[in-house]
Amino acid sequence: MEKLLNLLADGHFHSGEELGDSLGVSRAAVWKKLKGLEELGLILDSVRGKGYRLGRGIELLDQSKIESGLDKSLLNRIKLHTCFSTGSTNDLVKELSDDESGSMTFCLAEHQTSGRGRRGRTWVSPFGSTISMSANWRISEGTASLEGLSLAVGLAVLKALEANGARNIELKWPNDVLWQGRKLSGILLEVHGDPTGECDVIIGIGINIKLSEDQKKGIGQPAVDLHEVCGKTVSRNAVVSQLINTLSHTLDGFTHGGFALYRDQWSEYDAFRGQEVNIEAAGRKEKGVNVGVNEQGGLLIKTETGVKVFNGGEVSLRKS
Ligand code: ATP
Repeated sequence: MEKLLNLLADGHFHSGEELGDSLGVSRAAVWKKLKGLEELGLILDSVRGKGYRLGRGIELLDQSKIESGLDKSLLNRIKLHTCFSTGSTNDLVKELSDDESGSMTFCLAEHQTSGRGRRGRTWVSPFGSTISMSANWRISEGTASLEGLSLAVGLAVLKALEANGARNIELKWPNDVLWQGRKLSGILLEVHGDPTGECDVIIGIGINIKLSEDQKKGIGQPAVDLHEVCGKTVSRNAVVSQLINTLSHTLDGFTHGGFALYRDQWSEYDAFRGQEVNIEAAGRKEKGVNVGVNEQGGLLIKTETGVKVFNGGEVSLRKS
């Protein structure tokens, strides 16, 4: 199926015969594989006399293209793994991380069958239409050293998108990237291991590259893709390279200076700064004005009874 996709990725028509010859299989076998692609959510046009094509073309993940865009200093420090389909890249990276090598593992999938957000919510990642990437960052100082990490990761994602042409993008605390109030990217951090010592921080990042209108409508809140934000096709592989660059440098900085290093920059992109917001935390609802974030990444809300600090996890923020 992977070979068939590579042939169709150009978005041009290919006859069943040509596809069968290239793959060394019968036309009936080609037809079966094409059905398999449709089951993954890919939209195929089929025209009598012309053959089949992938309606919107697709840029498949390409390890060598990704590597060619990486900062040279990272080449010996990371391991890259790309795959066709997986349950969740957060689970895959945990499985594939090597205890001994000391390098950081990055996993990417064309498609996740059970991508997830916070609190078990679903993350939609149709085949070839998003970036679904997870990295395993090993730390030895316990979870207390992670305060504000999810905000710093959000900023790293935003910087990678800006480097690829996105403008007027903003951050919604703690780490969603928005454009005109619509969600372009989401992040899920999961921690495994000893909360007071050595642990693996799994950093999952989802970015919409090019979704169909139906796919956008199927998401439970307003969503947008990079194609719409930039008004043109953006290379998926180029975004991945930049994402690995910005994330790796941010983690290096975070190790030395924590979120305090990034607070000012983060605040420049705060989507709700100075605005009235509603907060829901552990079933409790609050209303107030978003007055920024502190050096630990906590959200500061000015309420009638004073400024309150909200920390990550079970907190949900919405504009009122
Ligand atoms: P919160 O309510 O805490 O602010 P959230 O609603 O943004 O968070 P997350 O756990 O960060 O929730 O992300 C999961 C949610 O994101 C889903 O419930 C869905 O509404 C939305 N979502 C799922 N897939 C996508 C996608 N590809 N693009 C944009 N949004 C998505």
